[in-house]
Amino acid sequence: MFKQKGLLIVLSGPSGVGKGTVCSYLREKQKDIIYSVSATTRKPRVGEVDGVNYFFKTKDEFEEMIKKDQLLEWAEYCGNYYGTPRTFVEETLEEGKDIILEIEVQGALKVKEKYPEGIFVFLIPPSFAELKNRIFYRGTETEDIIKSRMSIAKDELQMMKYYDYAVVNDEVPNAVKRIQSIIEAERLRKDRI
Ligand code: 5GP
Repeated sequence: MFKQKGLLIVLSGPSGVGKGTVCSYLREKQKDIIYSVSATTRKPRVGEVDGVNYFFKTKDEFEEMIKKDQLLEWAEYCGNYYGTPRTFVEETLEEGKDIILEIEVQGALKVKEKYPEGIFVFLIPPSFAELKNRIFYRGTETEDIIKSRMSIAKDELQMMKYYDYAVVNDEVPNAVKRIQSIIEAERLRKDRI
């Protein structure tokens, strides 16, 4: 019997906008959406667990994954590699389940080339000053990394035009409600096609 594919949802936006926090809150509220765990060469932060937050890899392991075409997309960001394991995404969609990727902008644009039917949500800060505050007060980064993340964020904001939706992250629960409405509408639309 024909089984309808799941929805591919990509949550992206500039560095420091709060993608990670919004995505965790959304996952709490929306248990029916599968989360794609990325691979990275970044060192784990305190409290991060391998296989839950990320699959933590060495540079060699990551390059091997690239070579073997095991990644749907990957990008280099602040000196580390980040990428989405391909098979997990493909299998989840085939099973008819919806999946969400929380990734940076370059990677999101690569996913768009492969899945133009995906739903691309761009999270934006209420203002640029607010973005600077958030990167600064995250507190886990050195000054050089803060500078580098701010400069990337400026360029990334220009990418909004390639997305289907822009969602303002003023307060996390508000942003999540907006994303939930988008998902609900897209599910209804898909059922009618
Ligand atoms: P962090 O080091 O703060 O966890 O993540 C840094 C950036 O990498 C964030 O913007 C996050 O969305 C992005 N990121 C996480 N996983 C992936 C991935 O699989 N692919 C890409 N392209 N970016 C990712």
